[in-house]
Amino acid sequence: MPPIDIAKTAVALGKERATLLHQLSELGADENGELTGEMDFGDAFADAGAATAERTETMGIIKNLRNRLDDVRAAMVRIEDGTFGTCTECGETIGEDRMEYRPTSSKCIGCKTKSA
Ligand SMILES: [Zn+2]
Repeated sequence: MPPIDIAKTAVALGKERATLLHQLSELGADENGELTGEMDFGDAFADAGAATAERTETMGIIKNLRNRLDDVRAAMVRIEDGTFGTCTECGETIGEDRMEYRPTSSKCIGCKTKSA
C-alpha cells in the first residue's frame, strides 16, 4: 500500500474547509459558528413554536458544521507540523486505511475505541 499523499489530502481538507465555511455563511453564521446577523425565521411561520423549532434545528446544524470545521482545521495543523497520521493519544501511527478514509482522524482505532 503506497503512503498517503499528504499534498492531495491537504488540498482535499482545504476544499472541505471552504465548503463548510460556505455552508456556515449560508446559515448566517461566521467561521466560529457565531451568528453574524439576526436570524429571521419569524415571517415564514405563522406560529412562534414552528419558528423556534426551525431555529433550534439550524443551531444544531451550525454546531455540527462548526465541529467538522474544527476537525478539518486540526488536521491541517497536523499536516503542517508533521504529526499528521500520528495518534494524538498514544503517539502510534494511525493506519493508512483509516487516514485515507477519514483524514481528520486524530486518534488510532485503539484510542478512539477507548475514549468512545
Ligand atoms: Zn492511539
